[in-house]
Amino acid sequence: MRRPVIAGNWKMYKTLAETRAFFEAFKPLVVGTKKCDIVIAPPFTALAAAVEAAKGSSIAIAAQDAYWECEGAFTGEISMGMLLETGCRAVILGHSERRQYFGETDATVNRKLRAAVAAGLQPIVCVGERLEEREAGKTEEVLERQFSGGMAALTDAEFSRILIAYEPVWAIGTGRTATPEIAEEAQRFIRRLGAKKFGADGAATCRILYGGSVKPENIRGLMAQEDIDGALVGGASLDPRAFSEIVNY
Ligand code: PEP
Repeated sequence: MRRPVIAGNWKMYKTLAETRAFFEAFKPLVVGTKKCDIVIAPPFTALAAAVEAAKGSSIAIAAQDAYWECEGAFTGEISMGMLLETGCRAVILGHSERRQYFGETDATVNRKLRAAVAAGLQPIVCVGERLEEREAGKTEEVLERQFSGGMAALTDAEFSRILIAYEPVWAIGTGRTATPEIAEEAQRFIRRLGAKKFGADGAATCRILYGGSVKPENIRGLMAQEDIDGALVGGASLDPRAFSEIVNY
């Protein structure tokens, strides 16, 4: 039985004051929630404030990216150790916006993933095809490439503990959610890739989230699918009420 995870990705939204106000409103709305893990990924500047504000709850705080080196002359970068120091427990890697705007590749995702695992952070690795790739019938080819490049050199045990987020790029921030069936088909395929590379046990344990315009209105249908173990939520995670409704699906 895989424990569901609902994660929020705040992208480049929320000041410190907005972060504190979010938690003040959100915590009472999820206080009795036992059925899933809750993760929130604020921008770097709000990590420590979010960790502080989440105290007394089971909400874990994640970063939206990090660098693979421990320290050095890498202006603008943040290491896994620096994240841990804030009280952060997880890190999103390979988000499609990082791939699209900041030159992230499967090779850099893999270096970051191995650094996160070594540091003891929970990685949430994003994969997903663009619209033109889906329309050209290349979804599985893209997922296979991202999977084998991104997950290279993990051990079976490490693979079983990571989180993967299937995020079709055409569904992110567009209001155009993948149907539960489309998401399930892709996620079943990803699990099969996991079984081929890391064995059936690891693949059965690995949690695969769906991301792309998840809302209170569509979360139940998605979560009813066998291979959907949770959600990575962008826009709707900014609003405490909407996000709590997703968490309490
Ligand atoms: C995301 O940022 O990972 C995401 C899925 O965004 P949205 O929910 O807004 O589509």
